[in-house]
Amino acid sequence: MVAISNETRAAAGIGAQLVTAVESVIGPAPNFVALHEPEFAGREWEYVKDCIDTGWVSSVGSYVDRIEMMLEELMQAKAVACVNGTAALHICYTLAGIAAGDEVLVPSLTFVATVNPIHYIGAIPHFVDSSPVTLGVDAGALKAYLDEIAELRGDRCFNRATNRPISALVVTHIFGHAADMDALVEVAGRWNIVVVEDAAEALGTSYKGRPAGSIGKIAALSFNGNKIVTTGGGGAIVTTDQVLAQRAKHLTTTAKLPHRWRFDHDEVAYNYRMPNLNAALGCAQLERLGDAIARKARLAEAYRAAIAPIEGVSFVDAPDFSQSNHWLNALTLDGATLEDRDVVLGLLNDANYMSRPIWTLCHRLPMNASSPSAPLPLATRLECEVINIPSSAQLSVLP
Ligand SMILES: *Cc1c(COP(=O)(O)O)cnc(C)c1O
Repeated sequence: MVAISNETRAAAGIGAQLVTAVESVIGPAPNFVALHEPEFAGREWEYVKDCIDTGWVSSVGSYVDRIEMMLEELMQAKAVACVNGTAALHICYTLAGIAAGDEVLVPSLTFVATVNPIHYIGAIPHFVDSSPVTLGVDAGALKAYLDEIAELRGDRCFNRATNRPISALVVTHIFGHAADMDALVEVAGRWNIVVVEDAAEALGTSYKGRPAGSIGKIAALSFNGNKIVTTGGGGAIVTTDQVLAQRAKHLTTTAKLPHRWRFDHDEVAYNYRMPNLNAALGCAQLERLGDAIARKARLAEAYRAAIAPIEGVSFVDAPDFSQSNHWLNALTLDGATLEDRDVVLGLLNDANYMSRPIWTLCHRLPMNASSPSAPLPLATRLECEVINIPSSAQLSVLP
């Protein structure tokens, strides 16, 4: 027998209350309820079948043009479709001017795909702390940290300790809530640091009325199967800069020079094109994005109300400046340890409500062991406290 501490007992009590609260919102779960499932309730079958009927399944086709046009309207920016969100980030980082040997400020509290492409180009992630309000990069902590460790040499920002340039700040909009862009853009601007948005989770989210992903220099979207809109696998590069958008198209399409038959390529580039088959699925999904967001907002509101009476648990509301797409509903288990959190997660998953912790902090992953890091008191606490509960749009049972 393992002794059960008072803390563990308290966590078990909270877990039991959470199971009841989740059940009151989405109903009983005789079968496992996934965290986030795609929904194909529109013209998906028609468009995909059209690709097969016409033979246009691969890397060019009308649905690729169409999804880019739909994204441009939604994002109020140029959009280049590509194979996945990670590839989109790789191109964003390249076009933001990040070079091998540069340091890139990035939250430790983010999905690993935000960080990996920094390594692809031989740059070095430099981890920064996260805000309990937005879950994104904390602008106040970032400002104080840069005042302490950075200096301008000419117009470039350098890390005084490592003598490496700090060329970019990556901001992730987490679970659909926008990061505090104005404050972050201001801090980065003071240091001539380029801002890149990882908007993989934030399609349809806005920040003070502007689409998340249209505010920094360049941004990445993801259409993976678990995102609010899926193309199976896919992503996009988004920017208001026409020249960068053209460069993004060129770099994702093997740098081929347009010609009726010649194979001329003017630089080393990537085959990161989105296949037409995937774009077709995405066009049908995008047609229903507004409806999905409306239902997800209702689901979030129902969870918020059901969780409000539980002591020690808080619903992570969208900050005032953000109109959220409510991609994943998140809660904080206030003051929880990792063990407490896992007790709660065990109870929710045992009850068939798939729930999971926020990511393991990226600065602790082995490939980032030698990367510089700011102090991370807030991210370290959020890692223990934040969990996600089932969030598919189709779980919204209210009219
Ligand atoms: C999903 C996701 C990505 C990567 O997208 P893929 O399409 O899976 O490559 C990047 N960053 C964040 C924050 C994500 O949630």
